[in-house]
Amino acid sequence: MAYFAKREQVTTLPCPDCAKPLTIARSCFEVFMLCPNCQKRFPLKPFIKQSDAAMEEFMENVYCNRI
Ligand SMILES: [Zn+2]
Repeated sequence: MAYFAKREQVTTLPCPDCAKPLTIARSCFEVFMLCPNCQKRFPLKPFIKQSDAAMEEFMENVYCNRI
């Protein structure tokens, strides 16, 4: 049974530009916030303070995957 960590997770955080829910996503070495509506990327840092359960779970998976 293989487990694949998600590369993207929808959060409840609103986009700074359009207020639609942001997606947290990762590439090989970075994690960022992505707005599917504006197609914009935002740096993760300003959002960490407001992170919701979905984001926290995603971050845990990111760190586990470094093994
Ligand atoms: Zn947006």
